[in-house]
Amino acid sequence: MLVFAKIKSVQQKINSLKKGASIGFVPTMGALHKGHLSLIKQAKKENDIVVVSIFVNPTQFNKQEDLINYPKTIDTDLSLLKSVYCDLVFTPTAEEIYSNNIKSQVFDFDGLEHQMEGKFRDGHFNGVGTIVKRLFEIVTPHKAYFGEKDFQQLQIIRKLVQKHHIPVKIIGCDIFRENDGLAMSSRNSRLTEEYRNASPFIYQTLKKAKIKFGTISAHDVVQWVENEFKNQPLLELEYFEIADEATLQSIKNKEPKQKYRAFIAVFAGKIRLIDNISL
Ligand code: AMP
Repeated sequence: MLVFAKIKSVQQKINSLKKGASIGFVPTMGALHKGHLSLIKQAKKENDIVVVSIFVNPTQFNKQEDLINYPKTIDTDLSLLKSVYCDLVFTPTAEEIYSNNIKSQVFDFDGLEHQMEGKFRDGHFNGVGTIVKRLFEIVTPHKAYFGEKDFQQLQIIRKLVQKHHIPVKIIGCDIFRENDGLAMSSRNSRLTEEYRNASPFIYQTLKKAKIKFGTISAHDVVQWVENEFKNQPLLELEYFEIADEATLQSIKNKEPKQKYRAFIAVFAGKIRLIDNISL
């Protein structure tokens, strides 16, 4: 496994390998867990060479505190990547990516960016768009893998690629969960035992909401979920929405043949957790 921190050297290596070989790419912010590894394993199956980036992108954090406290475990990350036969790792510094201008480009994602996470994390998707577009330019992958754990991000990346005519196929991957149902996340390592024990309630509630959506209106499901969280002193619901998968707009009434998904964001103390389920 080769590790590069400089854009020029990673590009040279990729160009020399690329002749006839397909490149799969998995962008991450490190603090790797089995969720990330599931993306890498899928990429390994579908490509000749797998490139993983580890970069905690400053422009996608709306709170400086979150950026500073984001877990950094580079040595463990590199051994995990070796264990799944990753071929190439790109670990740039912020300076390498942004020079001395740590700023986002402003994007128009046809309104996807204004829903859910966009309402609560100002500028987040401009930051995501900026870094992913830059990484695609550097790595030039044939396929890139993103988790449905961040479903809104996945749809936004699809829009980014479509609008900017970037020649890469975007692959969405299933959410990887702990045995008790909590969606794996780098942030989970920051949960105290008390909050960690309370957090499986999030996915349990999503599963019940999915069943209820079969018989009652979207509006009533939302009310039911909001009430459930009122009885959970350790978990503070930020939002629960039922939205159209393509537009991410919240729905009032179900239409036949449309695909819907329920999205949730919850604070477990200071740690913000997100999850979603297909309905
Ligand atoms: P992150 O390091 O949090 O930016 O995540 C890097 C990639 O891994 C993103 O495409 C995430 O959606 C994906 N990912 C994170 N957690 C999970 C999970 N539990 N299951 C599947 N994909 C995940």
